[in-house]
Order: sequence, then structure tokens, then C-alpha cells
Amino acid sequence: MRKCAISIMAVAMLSWAAGCVSVRTKTTDKQMEKKLDKLLAKMTLEEKVGQMTQVTLEVVAGQTSEDGWLELDKKKLHDAIVNHQVGSILNCGGQARTVDNWHEIITEIQKMAAEQTRLGIPIIYGIDAIHGANYTLGATIFPQHIAMAATGNVDLVRAESEITALEVRASGIPWNFSPVLGLGRNPMWSRHWETFGEDAYIASVMGAAYVEGQQGSDISQLTKVAACMKHYLGYSVPLTGKDRTPAYIPQRQLRQYFLKPFAAAAEAGVATVMVNSSEINGIPVHSDKFILFDLLRGELGFDGFVVSDWADIDNLYTREMVAKDQRQAVKMAVMAGIDMSMVPYDYSFYDHLVDLVKTGEVPMSRIDEAVADILRVKFQLGLFEKPYPNKQLKEQFATDASRQVNLQAAREAITLLKNENNILPLSKDRKVLVTGPSANKLSLLNGGWTLTWQGDNEALYPQEKSTILEAIQDKAGTGNVEYIEGVTFDEVVDIAGVVSAASRADVIVSCLGEPTYCETPGNIDDLMLSAPQIRLVQELAGTGKPIVMVLVQGRPRVVRTIVDHADAILTAYLPGMEGGQATADVLFGDANPSGKLPFTYPKYSGWHVCYDHKKSEDSAPNKFDPQWQFGHGLSYTSFEYSDLKLDKKLLSPDDTLTITVNITNTSSRHGAEIVQLFLSDIVATVTPPVKSLKRFTKVFLKPGEKQTVRFELGWDDFAFIGRRNKPIVEPGEFKVSLGELTETLEIK
Ligand code: BGC
Repeated sequence: MRKCAISIMAVAMLSWAAGCVSVRTKTTDKQMEKKLDKLLAKMTLEEKVGQMTQVTLEVVAGQTSEDGWLELDKKKLHDAIVNHQVGSILNCGGQARTVDNWHEIITEIQKMAAEQTRLGIPIIYGIDAIHGANYTLGATIFPQHIAMAATGNVDLVRAESEITALEVRASGIPWNFSPVLGLGRNPMWSRHWETFGEDAYIASVMGAAYVEGQQGSDISQLTKVAACMKHYLGYSVPLTGKDRTPAYIPQRQLRQYFLKPFAAAAEAGVATVMVNSSEINGIPVHSDKFILFDLLRGELGFDGFVVSDWADIDNLYTREMVAKDQRQAVKMAVMAGIDMSMVPYDYSFYDHLVDLVKTGEVPMSRIDEAVADILRVKFQLGLFEKPYPNKQLKEQFATDASRQVNLQAAREAITLLKNENNILPLSKDRKVLVTGPSANKLSLLNGGWTLTWQGDNEALYPQEKSTILEAIQDKAGTGNVEYIEGVTFDEVVDIAGVVSAASRADVIVSCLGEPTYCETPGNIDDLMLSAPQIRLVQELAGTGKPIVMVLVQGRPRVVRTIVDHADAILTAYLPGMEGGQATADVLFGDANPSGKLPFTYPKYSGWHVCYDHKKSEDSAPNKFDPQWQFGHGLSYTSFEYSDLKLDKKLLSPDDTLTITVNITNTSSRHGAEIVQLFLSDIVATVTPPVKSLKRFTKVFLKPGEKQTVRFELGWDDFAFIGRRNKPIVEPGEFKVSLGELTETLEIK
């Protein structure tokens, strides 16, 4: 194999593939920059360091009344904003609040900043609104990102993001700590469901669409917010699967996979970034200047500001043991490129940093740089002119149109994994036995980051929304539906009761999965579905009645031992507030499933590789043998792929390869198909993955309808990170696959 040297031009074209996007031309607003310089020149050291300090709402909170209304404590607020000049406050103080309570909170905060500080710099308030405005009561709460990825519908992701931005801003909050752009390549990880799945291309495309939906073309628009890509970089693949433990990622893989979604979001102009709480290759990312500066600002061209994750500067000396004390940790993080510290409970960061500058250990130039980046985002958001909530936006909050988008998202996400003898869809006149721990709780459909951090306060959930059980009752009639929970996640309650009820039913719908969890509390030791749930299905199998398994879960729990007992299996992931309705719609055929797995569903706890594994991982005696393949997902409709054509058989650097394929709906109902294009580099100087996803699109077809789908690939799509850790395209043979069809071409 001859290695092909790439020209400078070609290297530039390869930027996306390399994760080193060319620096976005800043649409520098000269007037804004002048105002910024003037303001910075007036600021004292303390005022500057205050801007770099972020505290949590609890620090300034007072009483919460019984109905959940939070009052601020004026003295504490004064201490934060006037005495310590803090630049930012975050979070929800424990639980979701009404729009009106948010308005009061934000107004009070901004009023104090405007009226009682010397320079009147507004506060930038930040929140985790990761699947809708999930900390505002009554908001439109969408499927979690793993489910959005399963829809294969980028327009839906953009729409979700636009609605979320509007509802967050309607709450008076201008900054959202979303999207998560880590790759869900380790299913043990408790934040798997916050990702767009295992594939770098899907995460890049959907992540960029999400950023565009949040920010629009101008974040000063009243329905937009500043997005925050997180958690940069490599957070999602802790070796052990436990949250906030070490990842080991060589440069090549970092660039080949993990950097790409962040590069795409930086290219889309994301305003802020939050940092990986943990470490890569022994270096805590909060102390890694290469990652935070050279890669982020140099190669990715990111020009917003960098916020730490929760208490992660302290973690440099309490957990990671790279600093001997707090003072050294502060210096290390700031010098590595952290602009704002999510402290979040006190003013220790502020005190240390002021002192570090006074003693000359941190240069003022570094402080000026950080503060300018923070202030620029505040200017861009229009906070100086309009710091207060816009009360009129409340009219557009949680509209019926938004609910419809949410329902569509949940329907399109649901992924049908098995459907033997077309047992689904069910007819509405059948007697249904509903069982399992996830049948009758809204919290389980939503997961973490819903109304509270862990999402587990069922009492806060809107009772007018349907659980899976309630939605099934609506379809089949209460008289036709019997419900016995049978087991909880941890305990057998009454399996005998469920087994005996099965004799009265035509079909059993068993709703299984996981309890709610978020971050480190969601750590597990075993990926297997919990034992009581396995037993429930095993015992039900003896009844001879058809079993439909509905998996409501944030990560793919191993179900190998019960798969054969089920006639049909679908996964709803964490489908959000309309998830009960959407699941029943799919079960009874009012919606035709079209989701595809955005990850490889493991069959075993101890043997998992992603779809883009190496050949050695599928060579005897090893076998790539997942429970279900990445991209698997059935429908009530059948589709035929035909006429795959490439317009060239030989590709040169300036060429565009056009690929067409026909997709036909060969059945008698409407259906949608996610069309995925994979590329395989047959021989390369770095072991090639067996295939990589390069493009996808979703087509909606009427019965009998045929559509020609067209994709274009450029030179950079054929690149990989070579032996010198730089993008490279090598001559040789490539295979294009779409469905079962394949074609080959050559690179000169
Ligand atoms: C999480 C972040 C989140 C932050 C603020 C951290 O524990 O890792 O994703 O944005 O808390 O709530």
C-alpha cells in the first residue's frame, strides 16, 4: 500500500475528520468589543475574579414554602453579588420551580447586580435543561438524548432544542448546560442516556443541530440561550464504567472519535463549554492546558468561555491528587484554561485567586483573557440591556404545538427490537395484562434531570400525563386491562399473582428497565437486568401467553436470558413526558415504529465492543455477537433497498462522490426508514474499523412509494487519523454499504 501525502489544501479539507475545524471567522462586533474593553479597564481585580466565580442557588437561598416557592435570602444575595461580585449563579435549589418563581428569583438577582454593584454587570444564570426546561414546572419535557438519537431525525432534535431554549428563556434563564457531546461507548456508564449514542457522526450532526436550536443565529434573540457543550473531553468512557473515574484514550482515538462532536459544535458557534470532571491518561482535564487551550481554542477555534464542572477545581486536590492544596488547585486550573469556576458552595476560589494575582503567581493577563470571554457572552446575550425575564414569553411556554413535537419525538424514538409472527401491533379488543416496575410511573419514563437532579420525585410529576399503563387503558378500555406490578427493581412482590392473572389475558405487556438515576449515584456493578425482573419474565414464559417486553431504561441492560421468552420487544429508552402515550401508540399500531438503536446492544456484561470495532474483535475465537446491532430497529412496514449506484469508481482529492439508492415501502401502511450509509476502508496503515457511519437520513414513505435517496461524500470522509496522529487518506479500495447492498470504489 502506497501512502499518499496530503497537500495543505487537502489537510484543510480534512479538518472535520480530524476534529480540527478551521478557526471560525469571528463576526467581531467592533462596538461590542469597544464596550467590553472599556468595561474591563474600569474593573478592579476583585470585580474581575468575581466574574470568574459561580455559586449554586443554595448559597443565596432563603425559605422554601410548602408549595415549593423559593425566596432568596437578601443578606446572602448581597454577600454573593455585592461583596464578592459573582458573575454567575446556577441550578434550581433542589427542585423545579414555576415560571413565576423563576421570574422572581432572576429579577431579584439581576436587580441587585444592576442597582447595588459599582458597575452593574448582569449575572449569567445557568441551568441543566437537558431534555426540555426540566427545572421549570409544566415545561415540555422531551425524550432524553439517547432516544432523540434513535429517531434518526435531525429536524426533530433542532425543534426540541428550539422549544427548550424558548422555555428556558421564558423562565428568565439565559444559559443552558447542554448538549452532552460525549460518546456512549461504554454502556455501564450512568450518563449513557445523556449522550447521542456511540457514533461520532450522529453525535456531531445532532449536537450541532442542538446548538443551532439553542442559539439561533444570534443569542440576543429573546427566545434563545447560550448553549454549553459538555463534558469536554473524553468523560464518557471511564474504563470501569463508573462515573468520574479515569479514561485512557490515546491521541489517535481521541481525534478519531471523541473530539469530533465538540469540533462540530465549536464550528456551529457554541458559546460555552463545560469540562470533563475526571481524567484522561492520568491527567485531570481541569488541569490539562493542551486539551483546554491548544486543542480547544487553537485547533477547534472555540471562542466562548470555559466553565469547570461541579467542585472540580477542589477535586484536583481532594480526589485527583495532582495539587497539594486548594490554592495550588486554583492556580493549576486557571492557568490550564478554566475561565469560570463552578465552585459552587463558597468563595474560596475567589479568595485564592485574588491572592494569587496579588502575589504575581497568576498574571493579570490570564484574568483579563478569562473575564473578557465571560463578558463577551453576556454582551452577546443582550444581558446588559435586558437582564430581566421577558414576561410575555410565558404565552409561548408549553403550548400544545410543543407537546405535539414532543409526542412525535417519543413515537419516532421507540425502537422495535423483536416482533415474532407480527404479534405487534395489538388489536384494541384484546385482554391485556400489564406488569413490571416501569408500567405505572412517569418518573421512570423521564429519568434523571427531571424536576429534581435524580428525577425520582414522582409527586412532582404532572398527573395529567399518562404512564404506560394509563395509556394502554385508554386504548383498550379499563375493563380489558389488568395490572399487577409483580416485582420492583429490587424485590419480588407477587409473581404468583401475575402468573395467575395471565390465564385471564390474551397478551402480557411486561414493562421492565431501570430506576431513575443521574451521574455517580447511577453507578452499577453489573449490566444485567435486575434479578426480580428476569424471574418475572421467566415465570410468565411458563403460562404460554404471548409476552411483549417494553424496556424503559437509560442504558442497555443485558436481557439475554429472557429474550427468547418474549414474542416482541421494544425499547422506549427514556421517552419523556409523552412516553407513556407514545408507547401505547406503538403497541396498538397508532404509530409505526421507526427508531434505530444508536448504540450496539450488548448480549453479555463482559464482552462489549461497538459497531465500528476492529476485525480482530470478530475473528475466531472472538465473535462480534451483540444482542442487537447498532442501527437495528424494526417497523410494521417493510422496506426494500435497490439500485445502489456510485457516480465514480475512482476518487481524487477534489472529487465529490454521489451515491444514490432507491428505498421502497413494500407494504400497505405509511412508514419511515432511517437510511444509513457506512464506509469501510479495506486495508490501511492503522487497523481500520470494520465500517463507519458516514451519512444518514430519514425518509417517510406512503404504501408502495419509492424514493431515491442521494448522499454526497467528499475526500475528507475517506480520512482517518494516521500513524502520526494526523488525518490521512490512503489509496486503496473502499466499500460503501446501504442496507444489504454494497458497492466498491478506489482512491487513487
Ligand atoms: C454535572 C454537570 C452539570 C453540573 C451542574 C455536574 O455534577 O456533571 O453535567 O451541568 O453538575 O448541575
